[in-house]
Amino acid sequence: MPIKDAAKFVAPFRVTSGKKFKLAEHATDSLGGHELTKEEGKLLLEEGKLRLAEMQERLYAADQWSVLIILQAMDAAGKDSTIEHVMSGVNPQGCQVHSFKAPSSEELDHDFLWRSAKNLPERGRIGIHNRSYYEEVLVVRVHPEFLKAQRLPLDGVGSTPGSDEFWDERLEAIADHERHLARAGTKVIKFFLHVSKEEQKQRQLERIDDPVKNWKFNARDVEERAFWDDYMAAYEQAIRNTAAPHAPWYVIPADRKWFMRLAVMNAIIAEMEELKLEYPQLSKEETKKLAAARKALLAS
Ligand code: ATP
Ligand code: MG
Repeated sequence: MPIKDAAKFVAPFRVTSGKKFKLAEHATDSLGGHELTKEEGKLLLEEGKLRLAEMQERLYAADQWSVLIILQAMDAAGKDSTIEHVMSGVNPQGCQVHSFKAPSSEELDHDFLWRSAKNLPERGRIGIHNRSYYEEVLVVRVHPEFLKAQRLPLDGVGSTPGSDEFWDERLEAIADHERHLARAGTKVIKFFLHVSKEEQKQRQLERIDDPVKNWKFNARDVEERAFWDDYMAAYEQAIRNTAAPHAPWYVIPADRKWFMRLAVMNAIIAEMEELKLEYPQLSKEETKKLAAARKALLAS
């Protein structure tokens, strides 16, 4: 039984108003009330791929909207494999992936939205940002010593770097930026792949124990576990302050990878359906021109 209503399927995970948002109310191993087996989930994912490919073609043809998908998560939640699985059916020409690491010296010479703005998807395209400007209110908030490298004015217009007001101002800047993007024709969809601390431990152990996965292991990621609660608090603040109907957050249970992928896929489908994308309609004149071209072609 295919998923008829993608929006309904992902409704339990969609956050459009932050006021009452509590991360603790979102389980990392939930199936959102759906009764599904892993095998069924995998079949549904294949079906979703076809649907998404068709929608992406319409997005491209309509050339009016762009779609910005932001992926945020703790280490080993599965951002990379989600991108791989969910986008595997999409025409590579209509899709751009960009990963954001610790900022370069050139990036540090600009405001914190600059590097993201430089990599926004063009009209008609899907852009995936693997991490984003949200890192500026997540990893940087957890480790405020990173602010030093940003050389912000200490007695400027904004609040003192690192103060509570400072983080509120950053979140406000992000919310304003996303409202601007939405008005200009960018559909912003934000994902938090929500994995449990215990599941992360298992996945990090696998990276140590399985030689094929050794390359994924980074000792720093284990050290970051000590800051788990700080990260969760920072995520909660970020979602509370930036969830909006025009830029929804999806808090996706990530302990079961197959379900996480299926939920992300359906969230993208649901948001794109809302855009009511249609193939461009030809005017009467253009239709006449087509008929004339047909005639000329047959006679040639
Ligand atoms: P991932 O962990 O996402 O799979 P990766 O392991 O390939 O990616 P890393 O070298 O771990 O890549 O790069 C991501 C690191 O960059 C993360 O630790 C992240 O917190 C950090 N980072 C991203 N943006 C910023 C930022 N604005 N300021 C400081 N650190 C940042
Ligand atoms: Mg990493």
